[in-house]
Amino acid sequence: MRKPIIVGNWKMHTTIAEARALAAELAVLLRNVYEVEVGLCPPFVSLSAVRSAIGDTPLKLGAQNMHDQDQGAFTGEVSPRMLAGLVDYVIIGHSERRLLFGERDDFINRKVRSALRHGIRPILCVGETLEQNERGETEAVLLRQLEHGLEGISAEEAHQVTIAYEPVWAIGTGRAATPQDAQARCAFVRQRLRAQFGAVADAMRIQYGGSVNATNAGDILKQPDVDGALVGGASLKAAEFVRIVQAAM
Ligand code: PEP
Repeated sequence: MRKPIIVGNWKMHTTIAEARALAAELAVLLRNVYEVEVGLCPPFVSLSAVRSAIGDTPLKLGAQNMHDQDQGAFTGEVSPRMLAGLVDYVIIGHSERRLLFGERDDFINRKVRSALRHGIRPILCVGETLEQNERGETEAVLLRQLEHGLEGISAEEAHQVTIAYEPVWAIGTGRAATPQDAQARCAFVRQRLRAQFGAVADAMRIQYGGSVNATNAGDILKQPDVDGALVGGASLKAAEFVRIVQAAM
């Protein structure tokens, strides 16, 4: 009942020409894939080029971040008003934004609400660090991030939100969560969503992210509460990304 969603986060990789070429390759390889929703999140400067390259294929486009304000004196920032009409999604609260750029839950919540106001579907990232995991704080961290991140969101709006459970210790490390752990955490996230949104939570999609590759994707994606993956490194290689998409079919 929930359509799987695989999204590639290209992070700060690819020039405009490289992004265009990768998107064009994926547009050919994935042009007939309708049973899995596939999104590409290139760097800001390549959004237009990738939008053109994916043309009228079913591929979707996402931004990796945005500011919450429509406009203003925020040097270097990109606003939801600039992204509206260009992208389908925006990744919000990625752990790299939280940890390297000091983004806090209240700012992340304002971005989620702002994205929804502009018709951009937020992918809200949550997840614990290694230290938090080792201290047994994972569920408390997830609860805090979800509670703050989704504050003020109605059940109608929640339909538009995807949650990405991304344990920080698994991102870019080659050490993915086990399928059982990914399932347990995603089920925990859904339980929290149910407390806020009721039955709508059963229609919301929850991704796992953290060192997903063509080899481990199948076992992770067949877990009942894992509705897709947010993929970093492996999304930069067309053939591998396609195999991850196929694993979701
Ligand atoms: C990410 O950055 O969201 C991510 C999951 O990265 P990787 O797949 O490289 O671990």
